[in-house]
Amino acid sequence: MIIRVTPGRLGDVASALDKVKVRFREVKVLGEELIVTWPDSIVDERLVKLIDPGAVIINVKTRYQLASRQWRQRSIIDVSGVRVGGDEVVVAAGPCAVEGYEQVRETAEAVKEAGARLLRGGAFKPRTSPYSFQGLGVEGLKILRRVSDEVGLPVVSEVMDTRMVETVASYVDMLQIGARNAQNFDLLREVGRAGKPVLLKRGMGNTVEEWLEAAEYIMLEGNGNVVLCERGIRTFENSTRFTLDLGAVVVAKRLTHLPICVDPSHPAGRREYVIPLALAAIAAGADMLIVEVHPKPWEALSDADQQLTFDMFRELMSKAKAVAYALGRGL
Ligand code: PEP
Ligand code: MN
Repeated sequence: MIIRVTPGRLGDVASALDKVKVRFREVKVLGEELIVTWPDSIVDERLVKLIDPGAVIINVKTRYQLASRQWRQRSIIDVSGVRVGGDEVVVAAGPCAVEGYEQVRETAEAVKEAGARLLRGGAFKPRTSPYSFQGLGVEGLKILRRVSDEVGLPVVSEVMDTRMVETVASYVDMLQIGARNAQNFDLLREVGRAGKPVLLKRGMGNTVEEWLEAAEYIMLEGNGNVVLCERGIRTFENSTRFTLDLGAVVVAKRLTHLPICVDPSHPAGRREYVIPLALAAIAAGADMLIVEVHPKPWEALSDADQQLTFDMFRELMSKAKAVAYALGRGL
C-alpha cells in the first residue's frame, strides 16, 4: 500500500501506524511524501483517514509499489537539464569504454553534432574475462567529467562496487547499473542514496517483474530518478549477442511510470544490426536510447564489433528522427 499523505502529516500518520505495528517506510520521492507499507501488512484505512483526512490510499497490487503505474502515470527524469520520459526521445551515445581524452572528446563532439543529448562511457568495465581491459577507473571518470563540461553533454557511467558509489557519483550526471549488477541489492540501495539519477539495466536473466523490483530497491531509498534500460536477455538464440526483448519494453511501459531506455548495441553484438534495433526500440515506445560509438571501432579495447562509426551514428540519428516524428514524438 502507498499512502500519499498531506504535506506535513507524514510524522503523525507514521506514529499511528507504528502503534498498531504496521511495517512501513517513510519515503520522500519524486516530490511526494509517501508512506509505503510492506505488502503483507494489514492497514486500517479508517485509522489513516482519522489522522489525515486528506490522505490518499492506493492499494498497489504488484510486488513492486513505487515503480508501479498504479499510483503515478508518468515520471520525467531530469539528468542535469536533459529530460528523459517526456515527448522527446533522448539519445545517449559514446564509447563502450573510456580509452583516453582524445577518443572521448572526438566522440562527444561528433555525437552532439548529430543530436545526442547525453554522453556515455565506461570507466569501470564489467568484463567477462579478468584478462580483458578493465577500464581506466577514476582516471576515466576525470576524462568523462572534463569532456562533459567542455562539450556540454551530461554524462552517464557505470558503477560496479558499493565502495565506489560516492566517488563515481561525484564525477557523473547519471549512474549506470550494469546488467550483471541488476540484482546486486546492496549496490541498488547505495545508488538509491547517492542523489544522482540512475540508469538501471535489466539483468540478462531477469523477468520484467524482477527488473521493476530492482528499481523498487532504489526508489525505496528516496531516489525516484530511475530510468529502466532493456539491453537484451539470454535465450537459446545466438544469432545476435543477446535477444533484445522489445516485448518487455511494451509491457514495462504499461506497468511503470518510469521512463524506458533501450540499449541496441549490446544485444546486437555487431554494428550492422544496431540501427534497425534502435529504430524498432523507438517504435516499441522507448523514451531513450543508449548507443556505443567510437572514432575507430575496430581498434576499440572493448566491444569492437558492435560500436558504431560516426557516419553510422549520423545515419541512425536521421532515421531515428523520422521514426520518432511518425509516432508523434520529437528527438
Ligand atoms: C555498458 O553499457 O557499458 C554495459 C557493460 O552494458 P551491460 O551492463 O548491459 O552489459
Ligand atoms: Mn560495451
